[in-house]
This record gives sequence, C-alpha cells and structure tokens, in this order.
Amino acid sequence: MMRRVRLGATTLDVSALGFGAATLGEEYGALSVEEGQRTVAAALDGGITFFDVSPYYGRTLAEERLGRALERKRDQVVLATKVGRYDRTAPDGFDFSAARVRRSAEESLRRLRTDVIDILFAHDVEFSPPDVIVGETIPALRRLQEEGKTRYIGITGFPLDVLRDLAEQAPVDVVLSYCHFSLLNTRMERVLAPFVREQGVGLINASPLHMGVLTGAGPPDWHPAPSEVKLAARAAADLCAARGADLADLALRFALHNSPASSTLVGMRSEAEVKRNLQSFTGPPDIDLLNDVRALLAHVQDVEWPSGIARGGGEAGRPDGRPPRTGIVVTRGTSR
Ligand code: NAD
Repeated sequence: MMRRVRLGATTLDVSALGFGAATLGEEYGALSVEEGQRTVAAALDGGITFFDVSPYYGRTLAEERLGRALERKRDQVVLATKVGRYDRTAPDGFDFSAARVRRSAEESLRRLRTDVIDILFAHDVEFSPPDVIVGETIPALRRLQEEGKTRYIGITGFPLDVLRDLAEQAPVDVVLSYCHFSLLNTRMERVLAPFVREQGVGLINASPLHMGVLTGAGPPDWHPAPSEVKLAARAAADLCAARGADLADLALRFALHNSPASSTLVGMRSEAEVKRNLQSFTGPPDIDLLNDVRALLAHVQDVEWPSGIARGGGEAGRPDGRPPRTGIVVTRGTSR
C-alpha cells in the first residue's frame, strides 16, 4: 500500500514514491510513446500519485506525453511542472522573467491538458541572479497562484545553500533538490531539512539513484559527477551483483526508508522498472550489504559539482570539467 504524505503546510498529499517524468522526455535514452504510456499506467496502478515534469525535459516532449498519459486521471494525481529552464545550456536556456513565467505556465497547462497545476516550480534557480528570482519570478508565480492556475509554488535546484537562501528571502510552498539524499549524498538532511521543517515548507527529494549512477547500468554520458564518484559506484554495483543483489534496489530502499522529504522522485522508463521500484519501497535495506556498500562509497560521500552562475563562493563542489548533455547541471553558466 503506497504511503501518502502531507507536503509541508500545503493541502497536498503526495505518494512517498513519486514519478519523475524526465525519462518521458528521453533524457535517459529513447522511449517509445507506447512504452511511456505503459510506464505511467503501471505507476498509477501501483499507487503512485505524484508526477513531476518540466517543459525542459525533452524540450516539451515529456509534458506532451505525460499530459496524454494522465488525461483521464488528472483528478487522481498531484501534478508538478516548472518554469524558467528551456534548453541545455546557460544562459540561453533560461528565462526567469515574469512575462516568460506566465507564458510558460499557460503553454504547460495546454500540453498537460489541465486547467490547474498543483505545484509550479522555478526550475534550477541557481542559474539566475537571486534578485530576479526574488523580485520577479516568485511574485509572478504567486500571481498565477492567485488566479487559480497553480495551487502552490516552489523552487528547484542543486546547491542547497542557494535554495535555502532564496526560500528565506521569498517564501515558497515547496523546495525540491536532487542528488542530495541518496547512498552518495545525505546533505539534504543536514542543510535543508531543518529549515523547511521550521518554516512548514514542503520538501521533495529527486534522483535517489543519483541520476543513474547508483544503478547496474551506470550513468548517462552527460552525468556531471566527478569520475571518482562513478568509479566508486561501479565498484558498489559489482559488489551488489556478486551478492545476488541490485545496487538500484539497495539505493532506493535506503533513500525511501530514511528520507527527510515527503516524496522521493524516481525516473522510470519501463513497466518493469516501476514494478521493481514499488517492490523496493516495501522494505528496508539489508543492513550488512548497506554497511559494506557505504564503506565502498565513503571516500566519495557528499562529493558535489558546481552548478549555476558564479556567486563568489557558494557551495563548493568538485568540477569534472565536462558540461553535461542535458544541462540538468551546467557548470558555471558556460554554454556549448
Ligand atoms: P534518478 O536518480 O531517478 O535515475 C533515473 C535513472 O535510473 C533512469 O535511467 C532510470 O531508467 C533508472 N532507473 C530507475 N529505476 C531503476 C531500477 N530499478 N533499476 C535500474 N535503473 C533504474 O534520476 P532522475 O530521473 O533525473 O530524477 C528523478 C526525477 O526527479 C526527474 O525525472 C525529475 O522529475 C526530478 N528532477 C528534478 C530536477 C530539478 O528540478 N532540477 C533535477 C533532477 C531530477
């Protein structure tokens, strides 16, 4: 039975396991329309009622596909999408202006075949000067909320300190970060969770598989993590396989059973993956295996990478020097 959790001070109850629709935009490889539809249907059948997408995923493809897949189920789900990020590279792929926020939301409503979004996020806010987010983007999102086009608003991004600082300056209903609560990184618990609990802000954990690093197949080629992280995860995957276990299953059990967030968003691209992930949801990780895997990953624990425009310090990560293909993370605002 899927657990539903109240999201901060909102009136939304989200399924503890959420569906991340970046896969429907083919950010993780080709996916046929039919397989995408079957994957969403399997998620709904398994009790997943929280869906997250963005116009950025597949450059509107994911929204189109998700809108069609949820057409007759809209009233049964909590649907989140985003504004502000539209293409791979910074700065051209971003526009957080009030006019674009409005236009983007209206386009998303059409693609998603609905008249209201449940959570409208500003997508990857570290790519904008903070004064634009505080003075323009968030007020524009609040106006859309007042008009009934979205129920709640939020911000997403990678650097936790940037998210916390922005949410302090301009209150939002929900904050989403990714690759920050997994076998490789638990900083969400320490840096963001105390703040959001105190403020009654909803918290979402995305990418508990570290965007594919914590899987047997390994990450996509655009992945921004330093190579030492990928190598350590490879060794962890091999150890799991040698014990007849699966790193993705262990990683999901770890993230779902210890999560400081109301929902954990996983990207899934087949019915089989949905079924496996629903299964991982049912129990805690094997403690012996968990301890051995965590020992293998200890030297890369909490290793990050730079994301966003330079801010004179900020939350340091270690650059791998390779801008990713999707630009889910683009280093220092460079474009290519
Ligand atoms: P993820 O960590 O969920 O990993 C997804 C990858 O793991 C895909 O390749 C998927 O096919 C694979 N996978 C899933 N289950 C598996 C299993 N059981 N075994 C093997 N492989 C498995 O990363 P993600 O998809 O990037 O993140 C989830 C969602 O979170 C996104 O779709 C998006 O909705 C959201 N997100 C938001 C932001 C943002 O707002 N900035 C950033 C990242 C993610």
